[in-house]
Amino acid sequence: MNDLFEIKKSKIAGNGIFASKEIKKGQTIYFLSGELCSLDEIIKKVNNGVEEPSDPLEVENEEYLDLDETSRTFNHLCNPNAFIRGRNELVALKNITIGEEITFDYSTTMNDNEEKIKAAGRTLWTCKCNCGAKNCRGIINQFKTLSKKRQEFYIKNMYVPDFILRKFK
Ligand SMILES: [Zn+2]
Repeated sequence: MNDLFEIKKSKIAGNGIFASKEIKKGQTIYFLSGELCSLDEIIKKVNNGVEEPSDPLEVENEEYLDLDETSRTFNHLCNPNAFIRGRNELVALKNITIGEEITFDYSTTMNDNEEKIKAAGRTLWTCKCNCGAKNCRGIINQFKTLSKKRQEFYIKNMYVPDFILRKFK
């Protein structure tokens, strides 16, 4: 935790993280953290029921952070006010006012190895989305499933982690 935000009940889902100070566009908000796991380790954890498939954050090809409690509390929004830079740095995409929920677009970090996940008897994680944004896509899914226009917006502005930038630019 830091003094930029606090955890409160969210209209989007469950608890969320809300700005307790004004945050300027481009400002670092937080470094998402958790145990570093390979895809194989994540699959094992999910298959053993000790992990929800929604919780790991992909930070590199087949590398994930098994997010800690605070890090996994940031909600998804299809029109987010923050993004992931580098591997796990959460940065403000616009000015954020006090009391505003801090969100990022989960799809910008999703490029899972589908073959490996299928071979392990699982399907790619997706989630119905009802985030309330005007441009809500109705589903949270892999980066490659975003419209070309939306992909371009994220890539051109570098609102994605490095491994997505390398793959899609
Ligand atoms: Zn949405």
